[in-house]
Amino acid sequence: MAGCLFCEIVARRSSADIEYEDDEILAFRDIYPKAPVHLLIVPKRHIESVLTLAPDDAPLMGRLLLAARRIGEERGFGERGYRLGINCGPEGGQDVYHLHVHFLAGRKDARKVERR
Ligand code: 5GP
Ligand code: ZN
Repeated sequence: MAGCLFCEIVARRSSADIEYEDDEILAFRDIYPKAPVHLLIVPKRHIESVLTLAPDDAPLMGRLLLAARRIGEERGFGERGYRLGINCGPEGGQDVYHLHVHFLAGRKDARKVERR
C-alpha cells in the first residue's frame, strides 16, 4: 500500500534487518528494540490492524503465529520462551497501521508491556 512503512520494507524499497522470510511473511528487527531480541513479524499483504481483520485472514494469522514459533525455536527460545504482542488501534498503542506481531525475547522483562 502506498505510503505504508512496512509495505516499503516488504518491497525492499526501505531497508531493514530481515531475519525471516517465506511466501507470505517477513520478520525484521525493530528499529527501537525493547528487548535483546525484538522482531516484527508482518504479513507481506497489507492488512491494517486486528481491528479490520476479515474472516479470510484467519489462515494467515495462524501462519504468523507459526512463523513466531519457528523463529523462537531457531534462535534458541523454543523452551525458554518469549513474548508476542499485537497492539490494536489507537488505544491499543498501534503506531504503524500494517498489522505486526512483536516478538520479544532474551530477558525476563521482555514479558512486560511497555510503551515508548
Ligand atoms: P506499534 O506501536 O505499531 O505496535 O509498533 C511499531 C513498531 O515499529 C515500534 O516498535 C517501532 O519501534 C517500529 N518501527 C517504527 N519505524 C520503524 C522502521 O522504520 N523500521 C523498523 N525496523 N521498525 C520501525
Ligand atoms: Zn502495509
